Amino acid sequence: MITNLKKLSQLLHLDLANQSVYDQLQDFPLLVPKSFAAKIKPNDKNDPLLLQVLPQKSELETVPGFGIDPIWEREHSPVTGLIHKYHGRVLLLATNICAVNCRFCFRRHLQEKITDWQKVFSYIKDDPSINEVILSGGDPLMLKPKELQNIMDRLAVIPHVKRIRIHSRVPIVMPERITAKLIKSKIPVVLVVHCNHSNEISPAVVKALKLLCQQNITIFNQSVLLKGVNDSSQTLIALSERLFDAGVTPYYLHILDKVKGAAHFYVDIKRAKRIYLEMQKKLSGYLMPKLVVEVKGRKKHL
Ligand code: SF4
Repeated sequence: MITNLKKLSQLLHLDLANQSVYDQLQDFPLLVPKSFAAKIKPNDKNDPLLLQVLPQKSELETVPGFGIDPIWEREHSPVTGLIHKYHGRVLLLATNICAVNCRFCFRRHLQEKITDWQKVFSYIKDDPSINEVILSGGDPLMLKPKELQNIMDRLAVIPHVKRIRIHSRVPIVMPERITAKLIKSKIPVVLVVHCNHSNEISPAVVKALKLLCQQNITIFNQSVLLKGVNDSSQTLIALSERLFDAGVTPYYLHILDKVKGAAHFYVDIKRAKRIYLEMQKKLSGYLMPKLVVEVKGRKKHL
């Protein structure tokens, strides 16, 4: 794991040192798995993978409209670490540990996690309308395999819970962690991976994704539209094609949630729609992710 700017600079043959900024961002520090760093092109300060993980000076700017809880999760948390925002689904902040610190993360300031699992299971048991439980975080695939198994087993015995959805960046940024035994469930599992650029999909990632497909896990991808990273139709077309080759269905393309520290990644809706139209001209419908923005109370399709 790379947590040191100097080490990343050496690896990429770049002078990334901006120590004063780096020190001020220690509540959300640099964190990059070695296998992800290996996919970053050396000698390129604008590499799209590097930009996703490199702490920047612009993160310290205060920009109107960009806050610490951009999707109003705190208002929908009846139990610490459980978010009940939409009908039929609850989201569990199963851990606050991630494999990578993505600079655009909308939860970068909250980093909450479940403290009382008993209360969480009771809440789910008491509401028969909940038929899907979403494991998120942090990254649920960073839990110890036994802990993850225990959670999945306890959810599977609740009669009205029909499926478990896992949101994870691990298969993309740390594919070496994926084994045939990591996700074992007695009820159907949907996995939503987070990948923003086709360069993230190395042969090791393809292998990990195929392994998960073989276990009858349905895999979707969601991306965030990020300035300088993937804000061109060409880049997003390449991503959809590569995902599909790896057995993954492109699912959502999100407008960036307006989180404090990430304004430099923002692509406005007008431009996003132009990019999307370009994609539509060249991609089959099933390769088109849905362009969405989170507005209060729902996801709005654009
Ligand atoms: S892995 Fe997910 S939760 Fe963790 S920093 Fe990245 S976007 Fe945020």
